[in-house]
Amino acid sequence: AILLDKVNKWFGALHVLRDVSLNVALGERVVICGPSGSGKSTTIRCINRLETHQEGRIVVNGIELSDDVKALDDIRREVGMVFQSFNLFPHLTILENCTLAPIWVRRMPKKQAEELAMEYLARVRIPEQAKKYPGQLSGGQQQRVAIARALCMKPKIMLFDEPTSALDPEMIKEVLDTMVSLAEDGMTMICVTHEMGFARTVADRVVFMDRGEIVEMGTPTQVFENPQTERLQLFLSQIL
Ligand code: ATP
Ligand code: MG
Repeated sequence: AILLDKVNKWFGALHVLRDVSLNVALGERVVICGPSGSGKSTTIRCINRLETHQEGRIVVNGIELSDDVKALDDIRREVGMVFQSFNLFPHLTILENCTLAPIWVRRMPKKQAEELAMEYLARVRIPEQAKKYPGQLSGGQQQRVAIARALCMKPKIMLFDEPTSALDPEMIKEVLDTMVSLAEDGMTMICVTHEMGFARTVADRVVFMDRGEIVEMGTPTQVFENPQTERLQLFLSQIL
């Protein structure tokens, strides 16, 4: 579903992705971990072209990322993204946040968009919040709205960039539970997270990045129990 082939990216003189190659199959769940500044966010942001890469290839569901606007539209339609900060529109209700893109991008009739949104809000277990504004919800609830909002576009792939790292501990679980249930439904997912429990239960593969490179990649057991490099051993000793 997603192919990265020797992707290189620079921010000015800073070489932030170095020959990053990764192949994610349909239905596969990949967790990316690594120290701050290692290029995790940049990698997933390149997949829906929030950032552009300079060398190498990225192919998403058979569409090669390029400057072609039509191709980009097609890819953005297939790929949902959830960020650390929830990025909800504060002046729109929860329901309006969820129906905005389906109505304006997918040209879905309003009533149908609302039905769909309610279905996904029920799915993330907050249908009763639909008429409220983001500011009236807890962080965990807002993040679940952000997930529901992404799902309303019926993405085939979901990208998560540290979706729980801005949350209080008691709210982390409700968001992780939502992500686990998505994974159980067979969603193709790439998650940047340091939640090791989540990685162990959900990830088919864990990717460890350091200084712009993929240093190790394997099953959660291989990566967490049997790290091959000093860099990964050091990282694990710091987070566990
Ligand atoms: P963190 O765990 O802190 O989120 P990360 O692994 O997600 O880190 P990235 O955000 O991908 O790291 O950043 C990789 C490198 O690129 C860092 O050195 C960062 O400072 C740099 N960088 C990121 N975004 C930009 C930008 N817009 N302009 C210039 N440099 C950037
Ligand atoms: Mg990041």
